[in-house]
Amino acid sequence: MSGHLLVANGISKRFGGLVAVDDVSIHVNKGEMVGLIGPNGSGKTTLFDCLSRVQEIDQGKIEFDGVDITKKRPHLVAHLGLSRTFQVIRVYRELTVLENMELSLQWGKVSTAKLFQKPDSSTRDKADQLIDFLLLSRLRNEQAGTLSGGQRRLLEIGMSLMSDPKLVLLDEATSGVNPALVEEIKVRLQILNQEQGVAFLLVEHDVRFVKDLCDRVVVLNYGALLAEGSPQEIMENKDVIEAYFGDDGETDAPEGNDTTVEAKSEGVI
Ligand code: ADP
Ligand code: MG
Repeated sequence: MSGHLLVANGISKRFGGLVAVDDVSIHVNKGEMVGLIGPNGSGKTTLFDCLSRVQEIDQGKIEFDGVDITKKRPHLVAHLGLSRTFQVIRVYRELTVLENMELSLQWGKVSTAKLFQKPDSSTRDKADQLIDFLLLSRLRNEQAGTLSGGQRRLLEIGMSLMSDPKLVLLDEATSGVNPALVEEIKVRLQILNQEQGVAFLLVEHDVRFVKDLCDRVVVLNYGALLAEGSPQEIMENKDVIEAYFGDDGETDAPEGNDTTVEAKSEGVI
């Protein structure tokens, strides 16, 4: 167990008759970068909700850093060092970039009293360091609502890092982000991983992004685990290709004979 940071066993989550997550076991080692992919609706976000304890689970057990978090509240999980971003960006549009960063340490509802409290200097220093690191200095005092989609993604990544997490769950951190900024996000994540040992579990549609960053990829389909392996193994896996494109040859893929997921999807699945 020594290298394991997150260990989830037999996780199931149902919504009425729909099994959104079906007996999934997944782990992330300390300092590891793992990709989580799967067609739309395959349960990736719901699994993140379960792991970060935003959703109650119906079955299974989750351990983080040696602590059983199966029944813990989300803010306690965040304090233990498990942080996340959301597919639908959650920033306070009326507040500045800096204020969003500072308030992100308060999990859940932000009280008006908190808004008028002066954050301690270490919180401000950390926020400023992360703002610099994520290339947002120029926008530090701008309202978050004025940021581009990509800049807001960067802000949300920054917010997830304020609590000094050991593991960050990133849900589609690059969706709607222009390619130049995607490269920047990739470099920042690599630095955080290599220099600070932050582990990441990332849901991504951009296969190249996953390939460049991850040592291991886990694939969900219809809520269940379909495959697991190196990015190369996954891209050549017949089950995975079929899950994404069906076996009838009907795809939106570019022309050509290459049958890997990457080639078929032009990097976007
Ligand atoms: P993904 O992130 O892989 O696209 P989701 O986890 O968002 O998939 O969704 C998995 C399945 O669960 C989908 O069929 C979706 O419609 C359903 N689902 C997700 N959240 C809810 C919810 N709160 N209530 C009911 N069904 C949900
Ligand atoms: Mg999703």
